[in-house]
Amino acid sequence: MPRPFQTEERQAFRDQVIRFARTELVPHINDWDEAGAVPWELHQKVAALGVFGFGIDEKWGGLGFDDAFMRAAWAEEVARRCSSGVMAAVGGRGISLDPIVKLADEETKARILPDVIAGRTGSSLAITEPSGGSDVAGLRTRAVRDGNHWVISGQKAYITGGMKADHFVVAARTGGPGIEGVSLFLVPSDAPGFSRIAMDRKQGWWCAEQALLSFDEARVPASAMLGEENRGFASIMSNFNLERLTLIAQSLGMMKGVLDQSIDWAQERQTFGKPLIKHQVIRHKIAEMSARVDALESWVDRLCWEINEGEIPVAGLAKAKFHATKSLEYVASEGMQIMGGAGYMRGNLIERVWREVKIQAIGGGSEEIMRDLAVRQMGL
Ligand SMILES: Cc1cc2nc3c(=O)[nH]c(=O)nc-3n(C[C@H](O)[C@H](O)[C@H](O)COP(=O)(O)OP(=O)(O)OC[C@H]3O[C@@H](n4cnc5c(N)ncnc54)[C@H](O)[C@@H]3O)c2cc1C
Repeated sequence: MPRPFQTEERQAFRDQVIRFARTELVPHINDWDEAGAVPWELHQKVAALGVFGFGIDEKWGGLGFDDAFMRAAWAEEVARRCSSGVMAAVGGRGISLDPIVKLADEETKARILPDVIAGRTGSSLAITEPSGGSDVAGLRTRAVRDGNHWVISGQKAYITGGMKADHFVVAARTGGPGIEGVSLFLVPSDAPGFSRIAMDRKQGWWCAEQALLSFDEARVPASAMLGEENRGFASIMSNFNLERLTLIAQSLGMMKGVLDQSIDWAQERQTFGKPLIKHQVIRHKIAEMSARVDALESWVDRLCWEINEGEIPVAGLAKAKFHATKSLEYVASEGMQIMGGAGYMRGNLIERVWREVKIQAIGGGSEEIMRDLAVRQMGL
């Protein structure tokens, strides 16, 4: 469908991402998946596209402008060709940058941001704990003030990019129970008392290097606190919004990738004396998949427009996220049915998407939590 908000500049950026995905990602994606990691040079190559610099001042290596359509185009076009795991492999950085940009002091930003944005160093966001991720206000990792230091104790689970990140944005309890007692810290990977182990036995996102982080009375200077003491919860919630836009756009890209592959296959494959695409049941599957793609694409554009207008559509993002992942689940299932046994074999896009459907539905706010948030935003 024509996209009403497309401009020459946005199309040029989208085309650049498509070329990048075709030449730099698609030929290697299976090897990286099997190896469980991407080479570090990829972080720098991706950074050269500018995708970590949206909304960040040029003096820190950012682009000096923001555009939700371009953010979404990056997510959509890569996911369309590679699914979402390879984006997660470089993208732990993406979801941790916003709190650093908004809350760190000038000295910290000048020291950290240029290298992170250029892909020379890595950063990750560490909110979820082994005891739970949905109930952020219930987190148990604790930080206690000791003179000019904070001493952090606890664990963080499933942290994307966590095995190689140099910096972590960590949520810890500094006050009483609930949302009022949560603060954010920027913790370097060489902090005394910090350690990590790989969480590498997982259904999908094989090359995204999730880690279990342990803070065993890890010491950081008092200046490591991001923003005000006990005021971190609102920043965590606000940071989720752009992460959700990315996840929605990824789901759209994954759906398009499955549809592309399903149509190609259905035209090529002969059953009962004619191409699969000539069987009415298959035609109806393609029609339904295509309609769901169109609906989500329109919704993504509308969300991007709202974000560019300066209004964060919290309820819209929540609803679009669970709607997108339910549509993705449907499209992935139908796509694999169309492919038959070939779709089940490792290494093709549909098989990878199928493995990654559930992390789209769980990460960044699960379907259940998104439904609850949407209804709460209605004042109910
Ligand atoms: C591959 C991967 C990468 C990840 N990367 C990161 C990362 O980089 N940083 C980070 O901080 N976290 C990360 N996460 C964690 C992710 O955000 C959490 O898994 C998610 O928020 C859900 O938390 P949980 O797994 O602890 O489930 P829980 O919170 O224990 O919930 C379990 C189930 O119960 C449902 N549920 C919970 N509460 C309710 C309720 N009130 N009503 C109805 N249903 C409910 C949930 O929807 C879920 O389905 C990652 C997870 C994975 C698997």
